[in-house]
Amino acid sequence: MKLSAKIRLFSSLFMLVLILLVNTSIYYLFKNISINSELDEMTSQTNEIVKTLNSNPEIARSELLRAYLPTDGMIRVIEENDDRLLLTLTKKDSFTELPASFVKTESNSIIHLENQANFVTISKPIIWENGEIVTLQVYKQLVAHTETMQTLFYVLIVASAIMLIPTIIAGVFLSRFILNPIKALTAAMKENITNTKWKKLYVEYRSRDELYEMENTFNTMIEYLKDNFEKQETFVSDASHELKTPISIVKSYAELLERRGQGNPELFNESIQAIESEADRMQKLVEQMLLLARNQEKDAHEQINIVDICMETVAKFTGAYEREIILETAKDVLYMNGSQDQLQQVIYILIDNALKYSDGTVKLTIREKNTHVMVNVQDSGQGIPNEEQEKIFDRFYRMEKSRNRDLGGTGLGLSIAKTIVAAHDGSLRVTSEAGKGSTFMMEFPIVKEG
Ligand code: ADP
Repeated sequence: MKLSAKIRLFSSLFMLVLILLVNTSIYYLFKNISINSELDEMTSQTNEIVKTLNSNPEIARSELLRAYLPTDGMIRVIEENDDRLLLTLTKKDSFTELPASFVKTESNSIIHLENQANFVTISKPIIWENGEIVTLQVYKQLVAHTETMQTLFYVLIVASAIMLIPTIIAGVFLSRFILNPIKALTAAMKENITNTKWKKLYVEYRSRDELYEMENTFNTMIEYLKDNFEKQETFVSDASHELKTPISIVKSYAELLERRGQGNPELFNESIQAIESEADRMQKLVEQMLLLARNQEKDAHEQINIVDICMETVAKFTGAYEREIILETAKDVLYMNGSQDQLQQVIYILIDNALKYSDGTVKLTIREKNTHVMVNVQDSGQGIPNEEQEKIFDRFYRMEKSRNRDLGGTGLGLSIAKTIVAAHDGSLRVTSEAGKGSTFMMEFPIVKEG
């Protein structure tokens, strides 16, 4: 069953039950009230009869009672002895079938008869002419009341049916109201699956309800997917483009060797060197791409001393290169939450760049600033012009590509660094002046010892 049909069916059924419940209560409440008022009226009439009988002993009782005989009713006088009838007054013979009984105290009852209007009866003990105690029983058939109840019954049935019409219409509107956004969402999803169009939902004039929230979330998700998809596409095309150059260089040297390599040691050596250096380059590129992919996932974080990490990394570089690297730190211990491997990687990238793009001393400074630790890597090299400072963090971006190629750059280092820093709730910025050097500044939240 479709959701729209379910909504319509359940809302109509629910309303139907509610309407029937309310109308049935109205019907029985009204019936009770009206019967009680009939009984009250009959009781006061009977009291009136008894009063008249008592105050007029000289008039024959049967004559007096006849005067009080209700239309659609009957008056009986019943003896205690076997409920014997002393007197029966009625205008309708069929009423004589009604039961009669002697009572010792005043009582009332309703007599239900099949296919006939109900009767109310009042029974009251009185002293008869012969001094005996007898029962005076007054009957009245509720003809008008039964008719009224019947009319009320039909009115309530019709009213129920009429009330159900707006309920059904409301059900239709409700199902449309809920389902239209869902249908639009399904259609957009289908369209996005079949062709990558990144279709979004139109939410401009929608009221800010849960459905709006769903649509808005969908739009945000599409935006996010689109962004990621495009990034992925650019990455794949950039990566394949970057790999193409070394591959074609290797290929052309291999062909050269094949054609003219034999008996030409100079060409042989040149080709082998070129092939080796391009293979190295490709290896580095692939390694860095893997690193970039790996760093997209968040590593487990633990409490680590950032000063130790900086010291270790500086020590490694000083051992491998004959370059001066100065480490300045205000404290020996500064704790932060993070991954040791990843942070080492960032510092490695920044020092490696500083060494690559400068000839002088490289300085690493660690400072504590309120709730943060600042790690700066400073060089006095060629610097980075203002307009390039944003771009250098993009994947595969390199300034002066041909020169950087000689330095073995891939253009991935800083984007790896930026990803790692972001995963540590930190920031990475650069200040630089062309010809005077650059300072890469990182900032991470510190945690108190313990
Ligand atoms: P690469 O592998 O080329 O070094 P990076 O992403 O690490 O890739 O750096 C991107 C570019 O930013 C580099 O090619 C270089 O032009 C520039 N760059 C990075 N660090 C420095 C620096 N310390 N001094 C000058 N230029 C730099």
